[in-house]
Amino acid sequence: QRTAQTWTLATQDQLTEVANRQTLLTRLDEEIERATRYGRQLSIAMIDIDHFKRLNDTYGHSAGDLVLHRIAQVIQGSVRRVDIVGRYGGVEFMVILPETDVDAAASITEKIRRLVGREEVQLADGTVVGATLSAGVAGGLGAHLRIDALVRDADAALYSAKSLGRDQVYVFHEVEDDRR
Ligand code: GH3
Ligand code: MG
Repeated sequence: QRTAQTWTLATQDQLTEVANRQTLLTRLDEEIERATRYGRQLSIAMIDIDHFKRLNDTYGHSAGDLVLHRIAQVIQGSVRRVDIVGRYGGVEFMVILPETDVDAAASITEKIRRLVGREEVQLADGTVVGATLSAGVAGGLGAHLRIDALVRDADAALYSAKSLGRDQVYVFHEVEDDRR
């Protein structure tokens, strides 16, 4: 049991109980390697909660923590067993979607957006708060994938989702003859 606890502490983010950044990046490396070796599709979604600073300022940091934990759990609960959810940064999560092309990844991420948007978190004083998220999706066939390019493209897509007004999923589509 102690070994299991140590393992959990080392691989999970303590606040949100999803994979921590280190675990996430290791798993992404492994999944890219696998997708490359077997010529499979792989996608990722970068997800960032909208206007979280405002939520913290309005309801307090511990209310923010509560909402962050709930959203992470909703994301984790919306994906398949093979998918990997982790905390990439402050209020930014990554979902790794093995064997999934960008269009399927967009549908899954859209489902996550809907479910998170519907979630209501009740605070200690009875106040009910919610949050929306923006997401960027990128992916492709194994042989074409490189970890830095994949994360960069998903980040660019996330930035577009934010710029277009938030609460939406934006998909990065590679130009056909773009050889990087
Ligand atoms: P945007 O829609 O542009 O993403 O606006 P934002 O306010 O969410 O901006 P940004 O994502 O850059 O900032 C996220 C804020 O979340 C900043 C930080 O104070 C807060 N935050 C980061 N980690 C935690 C945490 O663990 N708990 C709480 N309560 N807040 C956190
Ligand atoms: Mg944010």
